[in-house]
Amino acid sequence: MNLNIYKNLKRGVESNFINLNPIQRGGVLTVEARKAVLEFADGYSVCDYCFESRVDLVQNPPVRKLTEDIAEFLNMDDVRYTAGCRHAKWAAMHMVGKPGDTVVLDSLAHYTSYLAAEANRLKVVEVPHSGYPEFTIDPHGYAEKFEEVERKTGSLPALALLTHVDYRYGNIGDAKAVGKVCKEYGVPFLLNTAYSSGIMPIDGKRLGVDFLCGSGHKSWAASAPIGILATTYEWNQQIFDKSTIRGDWSGRGFTKKEIALFGCSPVYGAPLMSLMASFPSVVERVKHWDKEVENARYLATQFERIEGFHQMGVKPTQHTLMAFETLPLFEVAATTQKRGYFLYHELKKRKIMGIHPGMSKSFKVNTFGLSRSQIEYVANAFHEIAREHGIPVE
Ligand SMILES: *Cc1c(COP(=O)(O)O)cnc(C)c1O
Repeated sequence: MNLNIYKNLKRGVESNFINLNPIQRGGVLTVEARKAVLEFADGYSVCDYCFESRVDLVQNPPVRKLTEDIAEFLNMDDVRYTAGCRHAKWAAMHMVGKPGDTVVLDSLAHYTSYLAAEANRLKVVEVPHSGYPEFTIDPHGYAEKFEEVERKTGSLPALALLTHVDYRYGNIGDAKAVGKVCKEYGVPFLLNTAYSSGIMPIDGKRLGVDFLCGSGHKSWAASAPIGILATTYEWNQQIFDKSTIRGDWSGRGFTKKEIALFGCSPVYGAPLMSLMASFPSVVERVKHWDKEVENARYLATQFERIEGFHQMGVKPTQHTLMAFETLPLFEVAATTQKRGYFLYHELKKRKIMGIHPGMSKSFKVNTFGLSRSQIEYVANAFHEIAREHGIPVE
């Protein structure tokens, strides 16, 4: 065993590079969060004054206030902290469905939505998306699938799930329309806001959402792992149901503990305190979402000046996460020794990271939180790389 490899661990990506990695932009910590992480880095650091057996109720540090404020921010009634968006989905499905039930979800859903259903022994039925190049989800597809499930199984699905912003094209699903369909059929509605809450404004009640899950490390400037599960008064008893188990010999019970949250929450310490410390900035930054989208559109326009570069998904882009088809780069890759990695090397030389190494046929970027001058720098770098490899730039 060489224990030296665990010493002096360094990353240096956020400090030395412009990082375009789609999953990382919304999770870059604020200065306040970085300080809070150091202060609360020790194990169970938030448990000094825990009197009610649950972290969401701790008053010092002000977790209980944060819980209320996040509910207000999302226009939902109650919130819990989970081990990521995936755990929030698992928890909602676990408490709403029973084995054999069906979940209707969009066909652009994240793998963790499928696995959450699988782990709960639920079946999935997909609402199809439209074809190339837009890949949109028609809310009416939910009604069709609800009826199909009812015809085939004799009952409506236990839950409908919409991925608010899909991770492949950055399209924004019509949550309000899906919420309306769900209300009409009486199917509870789970909105996956992994790529929306924390970076853009969300109003759960207006969208008709029953359960809202979010990702702290993806979109709320928090350290991993932390997610959010929000719900309404109507559902909070069922979703946050408490333990009733008894030790058969000891008679011990844990009646304050919530089942789907593993009793307390599975997150405390650094992740929770980073979420808290970033929260004031998050409340502020969603107000400037329009600016972020403007910046993304600017980069898309600059990319499309390169011959054969096309933005996929809805145009102009509605989000800072974008996918581009880049066939000419793929043709260049075929002629170089580094193959698809040539792009990665060219970008790294120019202090740009975050495009999946080896990718050249298509790739994704996220501009969230980058300044206009950083984005201009990225656009120029791509123009330069294209020209150097004989790809015309308009
Ligand atoms: C990233 C992502 C997730 C996973 O989020 P975690 O907080 O890491 O569990 C879930 N759904 C979508 C749509 C995502 O993009």
